[in-house]
Amino acid sequence: MAERYVDYDKSFQRTVTGLGGNRPSLLLHACCGPCSCYPLTELVPHFRVSILYDNPNIFPADEFKRREKELEKLLVDLKRDKGWDIPLFVGSYDHDSHMEGLREYPDEKEGGRRCQLCYEKRLRAGFRFAKEHGFAYFTTTLTLSRFKPSQVINRIAGEIAKEYPEVTYLFSDFKKRGGIDKGKLIQREYGLYQQLYCGCEYSYEDGVKRAEKLGLDDLYHPI
Ligand code: SF4
Repeated sequence: MAERYVDYDKSFQRTVTGLGGNRPSLLLHACCGPCSCYPLTELVPHFRVSILYDNPNIFPADEFKRREKELEKLLVDLKRDKGWDIPLFVGSYDHDSHMEGLREYPDEKEGGRRCQLCYEKRLRAGFRFAKEHGFAYFTTTLTLSRFKPSQVINRIAGEIAKEYPEVTYLFSDFKKRGGIDKGKLIQREYGLYQQLYCGCEYSYEDGVKRAEKLGLDDLYHPI
């Protein structure tokens, strides 16, 4: 049965309007620096934002570090330019245990069952962290990517949220209102690179093919 469409961006806008300028704490799960640019502009005016970079899906370990460093650099630059003081927390890198279960779906297209399990694991880790550290709200940058189904991500997060009543899940759809293009402008302004693959070894193989098509020597290019 087809998933019932929900306008999660409307829901986002209703929630932030209802805050009335109180700026509660929010933990943002961020998959990388480039994907954080636009969501931060939507969140910082309404919340006291901290970021959790918890992405053991990323392969290889050097790439996990590389994306972490790029995110760190972005936050330093945003503090300098906009005065945004955004704490960054980094999760542990246990790739093998993250991939348990996911390896059953090597041939799924991005956004399919392997990815749904991957979202679920990372979102659950985010809720757990938010609860343990007393955050009022939790959300993720994942809905920004054109390859990631926002309906599915929000549905999964909404289900997990029932296990964590102390934390309010902020539904969002950062693709909406031109989020991808607005994000690219900020990425360009801050000189961020764009990686050509999502994270795991299966997507890495897709990235290699994409790079070949684009005539690139590696899996990164400046925006
Ligand atoms: S393609 Fe991305 S979301 Fe899907 S399983 Fe791999 S790392 Fe996770």
